Amino acid sequence: MLRTCRVLRSQAGSSTGGWQPLSFDGGAFHLKGTGELTRALLVLRLCAWPPLVTHGLVLQAWSQRLLGSRLSGAFLRASFYGQFVAGETAEEVKGCVQQLQTLGLRPLLAVPIEEEPDSAVKAGEAWYEGNLSAMLRCVDMSRGVLETPSPTGNILMQLKMTALTSTRLCKELTSWIRKPGASLELSPERLAEAMDSGQDLQISCLNAQQNQHLQASLSRLHRVVQHARAQRVRILVDAEYTFLNPALCLLVDALALRWNGPGEGGPWVWNTYQAYLKDTHERLRRAVEAADRAGRAFGVKLVRGAYLDKEREVAQHQGTEDPIQPNYEATNQSYSRCLELMLTQVSHRGPMCHLMVASHNEESVHHATKRMWDLGIPLDGPVCFGQLLGMCDHVSLALGQAGYAVYKSIPYGSLEEVIPYLIRRAQENRSVLQGARKEQTLLSQELKRRLLRRGLRAPH
Ligand SMILES: Cc1cc2nc3c(=O)[nH]c(=O)nc-3n(C[C@H](O)[C@H](O)[C@H](O)COP(=O)(O)OP(=O)(O)OC[C@H]3O[C@@H](n4cnc5c(N)ncnc54)[C@H](O)[C@@H]3O)c2cc1C
Repeated sequence: MLRTCRVLRSQAGSSTGGWQPLSFDGGAFHLKGTGELTRALLVLRLCAWPPLVTHGLVLQAWSQRLLGSRLSGAFLRASFYGQFVAGETAEEVKGCVQQLQTLGLRPLLAVPIEEEPDSAVKAGEAWYEGNLSAMLRCVDMSRGVLETPSPTGNILMQLKMTALTSTRLCKELTSWIRKPGASLELSPERLAEAMDSGQDLQISCLNAQQNQHLQASLSRLHRVVQHARAQRVRILVDAEYTFLNPALCLLVDALALRWNGPGEGGPWVWNTYQAYLKDTHERLRRAVEAADRAGRAFGVKLVRGAYLDKEREVAQHQGTEDPIQPNYEATNQSYSRCLELMLTQVSHRGPMCHLMVASHNEESVHHATKRMWDLGIPLDGPVCFGQLLGMCDHVSLALGQAGYAVYKSIPYGSLEEVIPYLIRRAQENRSVLQGARKEQTLLSQELKRRLLRRGLRAPH
């Protein structure tokens, strides 16, 4: 194991002169147990089967009916839940995180709650207040699960806005933000002031009930970030659908005004930018420049984007322009341009600017490591990498063992809470799961190698 670490570390090129590309050839699978590798291979093979992802919820209901909830629960725990979820209790999550830490990986905890767009079921302030408590516990857990929080390593946590504020309100706000002339009333400054003072906010385009819900949502967001700041946990806000994102950005901007100011040691609130949207590079450029001008810290999670099918469906239904890049190649180019913009910014602004390269794409990871080397950005500094728990371990492990900061996005919670969330994530990441063929090949090669070795060692 030590030898593997040394080989992988040397590939980062930090100590040996020139930049060397990391090899994502499964070498780092040495670090994992045979049971884990076998489970990963079986689960990833199953996930690459489209009907399982499309009809996941129906199949789960059937398995419960046929096998009974105990047996079906045991099967899920040994397979999908075990592969993609940290556990249910704080102890189980801690165990998972400690295991990741021994492999050079860090946790990015994510509470698996979300509101379905347009859902009438999950309405009412009580539901959002319950989610607030879960988020506050997640902040505590993000700090508490680390055996040895390193002095340089940042503690990060993922946050889905629509767990704390309704999609209906965000849709309404988005439609107002898009109207010319509405920007003054809906300024981040005004929301930040209301957040801080707790004073009643009256936005003329919203009715009394909506104004009340906005006020309550601002207060919840404020409490989460205030607590996170106190615990030194940085909050990474997820990007969602384009019919919600402008409202989410407004809320993030308001939080950033309050918590990312000069001298705060931030960024404490980061936004997510989805490279698959046509206007992302331009929006990112404007945001970077605005933060730079104001001397504010700036944090970005850069992703390709998860809601492609739904976005295209909505655009077609409404007869509006498709907001997504015309093809995968164009999304890749957009991702590279955004990456370049952010890395250049990090090299100018140092720790005032942070970036998470949240991608499983080997080309993007190579690009990032190469440019970090060119620009003299330290391996474990303001730039980090992010992948989902249970996915692309050959990339995460190689990065982590080479000394880069790598975070695994980790959902946790009970089987009932997490399985529907996982199925939705699997549907959104269908292309990644179907494209995980290389990982499957590497896993089966490693397993065959172990079997052969065992066979050779067995006495005749
Ligand atoms: C830590 C982490 C956090 C994340 N947070 C978010 C988030 O907040 N919001 C969010 O939306 N997603 C989020 N994602 C998911 C992310 O957006 C991608 O869906 C996922 O990571 C797959 O992209 P990739 O770069 O890993 O892999 P790749 O396999 O290289 O890329 C697949 C992606 O390319 C794009 N694509 C595929 N086909 C086409 C096409 N025909 N035309 C245009 N584009 C195409 C899509 O975005 C697709 O998801 C997150 C992912 C990670 C790892």
